[in-house]
Amino acid sequence: LPELPEVESLVCGARGNLLGHRFEVVEFYRSDIREPIPIKQVKTVLLGQTVNAVTRRGKYILVHTATGIVGIHLGMSGRFICCDAAQPMAKHTHAVLTLDQGIQYRFVDPRRFGRIFALRADEIESHPFFARLGVEPLDPSVSLSEHLFVMSHKKLRSKSSRTIKQFLMDSSIVVGVGNIYASESLWRAKINPARKASQLTRHQYVHLARQIIDVLTEAINAGGTSFRDYRDIDGKPGYFQQSLAVYGRETKPCKRCTALIRRTVQGGRSTYHCPVCQSAKSAD
Ligand SMILES: [Zn+2]
Repeated sequence: LPELPEVESLVCGARGNLLGHRFEVVEFYRSDIREPIPIKQVKTVLLGQTVNAVTRRGKYILVHTATGIVGIHLGMSGRFICCDAAQPMAKHTHAVLTLDQGIQYRFVDPRRFGRIFALRADEIESHPFFARLGVEPLDPSVSLSEHLFVMSHKKLRSKSSRTIKQFLMDSSIVVGVGNIYASESLWRAKINPARKASQLTRHQYVHLARQIIDVLTEAINAGGTSFRDYRDIDGKPGYFQQSLAVYGRETKPCKRCTALIRRTVQGGRSTYHCPVCQSAKSAD
């Protein structure tokens, strides 16, 4: 499952390949993936148009031209691969975008949970896919710690009892902190994942926000080169996997204190923590 760092790495690579280049052929091999593809609108945005920006919002890749934006989401198993036009077509290739210099971007998605859609430049905030998304954790104009502190202390009855782990993974609060990165940031910040989000102090949120930003940045850097073409995700966190301190390390020694990492289940998802340095009682 591609997470924010993998998508960000892909966007960086795509920026280098696409900026200033023109789409000469736009082909679709099926008319629907998760939803029907608005083929006519997508062609209006891409065909014969020059790419003037490639950006990301949440896990959406956004390709901008003078006539609009095409959004791409990889879903569970999607890949957006840059390759030479002569390369054989992989199974489950649903779209092929051919550029002026002879390279192609191909959208391959066996399970078809991905999305390809078009929007106007002024729709980024209001489009249904984006309207409810929380802040970008790496946006330098956002104070992540203040945002998390304020949101966690709002008296929304249904949400005030949430654990910090579930709170971080809520994409309407902050995007891109999936299960892996929530577990890793909490370990780095020495915060027990079962603690109530509303009970953490402002000081703890400052520390936690720092860890979230660091862990995402390191993961992006680890994926920066090798994920450029996004070939080998297969649900693994890629090169960053070697750097993981708790995620998937049940019964292995904590890299900080050597206590054995524990796995619990929160909201149906596996959660990993060190029972000693992330003790439920530790007030930090
Ligand atoms: Zn420990």
